Amino acid sequence: MEKSVRILGAGLAGCEAAYFLAQRGVKVTLCEQKPQKFSDAHKSENFAELVCSNSLKSTREDSSQGMLKNEMRHFGSIVLECAEKCSVPAGGRLAVDRDIFSALITEKIKSHPNITMEYGEVTEIDPDRLTIVATGPLTSGRLYRQIKEMCGRGMSFYDAAAPIVMADSIDMSKVFAASRYGKGDDDYLNCPFNKEEYEAFYRALTEAERAPLKSFEEDLTVYEGCMPVEVMAGRGPETLRYGPMRPVGLTDPRTGRRPWANVQLRCENREKTMYNLVGFQTNLKFGEQKRVFGMIPGLENAVFARYGVMHRNSFINSPNVLNNTLNLKKYPNIYFAGQITGMEGYCESSMCGLLAAYFVWRRLEGRPVQIPPLTTISGALINYITSPNKDFQPMGANMGILPPLETHIRDKRERYAALSERGKKDIQSITL
Ligand SMILES: Cc1cc2nc3c(=O)[nH]c(=O)nc-3n(C[C@H](O)[C@H](O)[C@H](O)COP(=O)(O)OP(=O)(O)OC[C@H]3O[C@@H](n4cnc5c(N)ncnc54)[C@H](O)[C@@H]3O)c2cc1C
Repeated sequence: MEKSVRILGAGLAGCEAAYFLAQRGVKVTLCEQKPQKFSDAHKSENFAELVCSNSLKSTREDSSQGMLKNEMRHFGSIVLECAEKCSVPAGGRLAVDRDIFSALITEKIKSHPNITMEYGEVTEIDPDRLTIVATGPLTSGRLYRQIKEMCGRGMSFYDAAAPIVMADSIDMSKVFAASRYGKGDDDYLNCPFNKEEYEAFYRALTEAERAPLKSFEEDLTVYEGCMPVEVMAGRGPETLRYGPMRPVGLTDPRTGRRPWANVQLRCENREKTMYNLVGFQTNLKFGEQKRVFGMIPGLENAVFARYGVMHRNSFINSPNVLNNTLNLKKYPNIYFAGQITGMEGYCESSMCGLLAAYFVWRRLEGRPVQIPPLTTISGALINYITSPNKDFQPMGANMGILPPLETHIRDKRERYAALSERGKKDIQSITL
């Protein structure tokens, strides 16, 4: 009998899942609503679109993100393979040229003989058909309503994206190139503030006009990890100086001193024609972004390639409805993958796509599934999203979700290195 699977959504998770299964001879129908329909955040016709930052975070082996990348590699991640092919300098992080990245993945998916594309918005899920739902945090309305019916109460919160400015509009005489603590090849442009400039900026930011949020039927909460810069500023005059505007590890070559505060700009593409404002996700009105962010030294005449925006970010109540093999308890043919499960972040969503595909594949093969050990980031994340939790919120990779080492190591760096070594060894128990 032909083995076939339907995958909804050609985002990060959907592409990973489709490629993983197709590589193993499974016939995949991949359904994508673009280019007929776009969410508020999606702009490109290509698949696996990075809707906000172009960074896939740290590559350090002794970090949780480094561990996660190692696990993605173990599962043969197409996202990681393509990201590494089009990386841009980002000092110890894996940042990419987003257009080349999506184009590379799209080409691999479209040309795969075992993948058939079906375009148009999916509005229904057939519970009798083996399906992976990977329609992301901005799942279109009609489908989201059906998912809510299948899963009971759905959830949502608001998430924000940072603006991007054109490089040739930055005043290069005011900014300096450097990575924090000299890590990397001066990959960031830094906009240094003195005390007066910071105080004026802080006042303008906290008083600026915000865009109205589109009403949405669920509880509206702003997720801590993606907090708009103006909301963070509202917590107190010093908060930003310990957050996205922290000056630590930087010396302004013009003064020979550490700036009072600093905004980092990270290049968006290989040609370095665009830069994003790191950590400056925002919901200010566009005119206000131009006015207030124009007070950042070097950005006085900045031309915005994209303004920051704020979006709904929906996820299911995974602890109540999902098995640890990522399928619904009530409808076992329906698997979920990506951010919609509550695995938060680009790499986490991709890994979740790989895991769902792996579980489906083992089932099609009639072989028992193996759940990644808790000592791996994948295993710990599955455990997190499927364990009882009445205040469930999305979770990204971090060392805190791993079980402690048998023998405690006091030094943080050494402890992280040991946790990473342990995870690296344990992921090998998953046979592919
Ligand atoms: C505004 C915003 C900013 C974010 N910024 C970051 C960030 O900077 N860094 C980070 O690590 N994470 C970020 N995230 C979180 C998360 O990593 C991303 O959303 C990630 O793209 C999730 O991957 P995914 O595959 O689950 O969903 P997506 O990448 O969104 O893919 C879902 C796909 O499904 C399609 N689709 C939706 N509904 C339907 C339908 N009914 N029928 C057919 N197709 C459909 C969409 O068009 C899309 O192609 C952000 C999320 C949001 C919403």
